[in-house]
Amino acid sequence: MVTTHCDVCKKKVDDPFTGRTFFYFSKYNVCEPCRDGLDAQLRNHARGKDPFSFEWFGKLTKDMLEKGVQKGKI
Ligand SMILES: [Zn+2]
Repeated sequence: MVTTHCDVCKKKVDDPFTGRTFFYFSKYNVCEPCRDGLDAQLRNHARGKDPFSFEWFGKLTKDMLEKGVQKGKI
């Protein structure tokens, strides 16, 4: 059995299935609940952003992940 860890909440994920129960963002491993939290926050931020740019969005994603990793949650 393969076990890996979420870099944000540090929970372990058994038999990670990339893209379904486990995700990679830049250099971080992210579990499903953390990805959902990240998604929700990104949506909130992106809503008020005009004009939208993918460069900005990519940086925002990375910043949020780094903060999440430090805090242990998204
Ligand atoms: Zn997690």
